[in-house]
Amino acid sequence: QPSLEVRDVTKAYRGTVAVDRLSFQVRPGEVTGFVGPNGAGKSTTMRLLLGLDAPDGGDALVNGERYARLDRPLTHVGALLDADAVHPSRRARDHLLWLARSNRLPDARVGEVLDQVGLASVGRKRVGGFSLGMRQRLGIAAALLGDPPVVMFDEPTNGLDPDGIVWIRELVRTLASQGRVVLVSSHLMRELQDTADRLVVIGRGRLVADTTVDDLLGTV
Ligand code: ADP
Ligand code: ADP
Repeated sequence: QPSLEVRDVTKAYRGTVAVDRLSFQVRPGEVTGFVGPNGAGKSTTMRLLLGLDAPDGGDALVNGERYARLDRPLTHVGALLDADAVHPSRRARDHLLWLARSNRLPDARVGEVLDQVGLASVGRKRVGGFSLGMRQRLGIAAALLGDPPVVMFDEPTNGLDPDGIVWIRELVRTLASQGRVVLVSSHLMRELQDTADRLVVIGRGRLVADTTVDDLLGTV
């Protein structure tokens, strides 16, 4: 069973506590929304899960392991992070091809993920000419390259137009219906309340709520 688990995790930066004894678990087959105001600690939590930083205390686990211990991480977990940047002179397809090869994934995955995110027709274009929405799609293509059972998207609707927002909603629903673990963050509750099955709400690094959307919002 794929899983994401944060166990009593704490992380401080120069005295600022970004994540404070946070614990939650994400189950497969449902979309879990990760909600909290800007600065609440959502990105930090995702970075810790991805091994981009180490927690000061606690455990941040992907499929029961620390990221650093996973063999071929892209086949375990795919992520779209806020700060993901691709060099502007890079062509979308070449970027994905490089990523596929450095992770020992078949070249054929590149065409598949470009199709999946709707970028097939611009695969040969340079990323420098992409809109923010297209860059988000490219980041999602990279996240899906290894067909991972766990996906994490940090504020994926940033820069997307209304069609793009609908597209992301449908994509995360599909990924969950395939039995994947899906964690999607937003600082806006309303962006997640129709998409997510469960909500993990954080504020100042601490867990505020971990519940179904129906229970939290009193809907039936
Ligand atoms: P969110 O993703 O919910 O907006 P973040 O995880 O980005 O929140 O930030 C949580 C807190 O940690 C904020 O106070 C932020 O300023 C701080 N923080 C995050 N990353 C760093 C860093 N690399 N250096 C210093 N402070 C950081
Ligand atoms: P080791 O496991 O051999 O100590 P690592 O490279 O895995 O070395 O981790 C370096 C430091 O960061 C260690 O103190 C480790 O406990 C901590 N660390 C790294 N990743 C995680 C994680 N996902 N959860 C908890 N602690 C972690």
